[in-house]
Amino acid sequence: NKWVTVSAGLVTLASLYSAVKASTKLSTLSPPRHSVAELIGNTPMVKIESLSKATGCEVYAKMELSNPGGSAKDRVALGIIRAAERQGLLRPGSPDVVFEGTSGSTGISIATICNALGYKAHISLPDDTSIEKLSLLESLGAQINKVRPAGIVDPEQYVNAAQKACDNLNNTQQTEARGVFADQFENDANWRVHFNGTGPEIYKQLNGRIDAFIAGCGTGGTIAGVSKYLHGKLGAKLKVVLADPQGSGFYNRIKFGVMYDRVEQEGTRRRHQVDTIVEGIGLNRLTHNFNQGEAYIDDAVRVTDGQAIRMAKYLSVNDGLFIGSSTAINAVAAVKVAETLKPGSRIVLIACDSGSRHLSKFWKEALKVDAGIQLQEVLQEV
Ligand code: PMP
Repeated sequence: NKWVTVSAGLVTLASLYSAVKASTKLSTLSPPRHSVAELIGNTPMVKIESLSKATGCEVYAKMELSNPGGSAKDRVALGIIRAAERQGLLRPGSPDVVFEGTSGSTGISIATICNALGYKAHISLPDDTSIEKLSLLESLGAQINKVRPAGIVDPEQYVNAAQKACDNLNNTQQTEARGVFADQFENDANWRVHFNGTGPEIYKQLNGRIDAFIAGCGTGGTIAGVSKYLHGKLGAKLKVVLADPQGSGFYNRIKFGVMYDRVEQEGTRRRHQVDTIVEGIGLNRLTHNFNQGEAYIDDAVRVTDGQAIRMAKYLSVNDGLFIGSSTAINAVAAVKVAETLKPGSRIVLIACDSGSRHLSKFWKEALKVDAGIQLQEVLQEV
């Protein structure tokens, strides 16, 4: 009888404990939002256990892939659209159109947010854009303008094509719709969303204790905005490291001060010859966002395609973290940076988008990697 009473007591205690635990979890849920646009930002942060254990540092991923449009570009698209509304260039309730030239996540974010806010999206892209991104844009109902791949000096290049399509709409009298060119490379709203959102969130989520921040550079908006915010808070204590894929010029720029600025490159200079499977980062020109955001960058790490592919598989198998190519580049850089820091240091990297955006190219290669791969093998220089 005594045992019955004791075990009944234990059962009651256990159920009380799980009820309290469940209610604590529930109390952290946020209230309903009024639009998908309000779901953007405030992304979670996760500790990457496998890399933390292996390096002796605490390695965290800022989960930008949790945004409703699947990447950090939701913040940028929303920031650009809101800035255009404030300037009266986009009119809520109108059939206005947002134009952008992009082969990447920004188009998907613009299309998503345009749907949420009642605008139309018009995306120009090279005709070799990956099938999953194209299908997504089609599914989101964006108007798509495919152009042949071309250099930035070519008027038919997709960014220039987007600008031209926007001008065409604004020059016609046949419709009341007006167009806005999002222009993520040159638009200040880009780095500002990271300065005002991503940066402060990272700082708060880690209670201000951060030793290193790692991101790649496409438009430069993320690394410029976040590094500027964190530098303001932490000063020289913080190490900001740019993770660069093979063939990109940022690494040389940071390490040796040699990279062609945009004007010079448009003239006669040679392009870098090595290509990469990685999408979204790694260019050979400095953008307005990189410069205007005053990126505080201490160092750069170059990562090979092989390392990125193997890292993606490693994190999927060991941590359940299913990432895209630019995130994999950041994760490899994080391990290399950890070697230069004291044990216990905290490293934050941006997890830009999910592996599902990269199935046809990057993950086709990652699939071939042995599931039992060790971290030393991931880091081999090939
Ligand atoms: N990762 C992915 C998948 C991207 O699409 C981009 C943006 N092109 C980046 C990283 C780099 O971000 P940013 O443009 O802010 O430099």
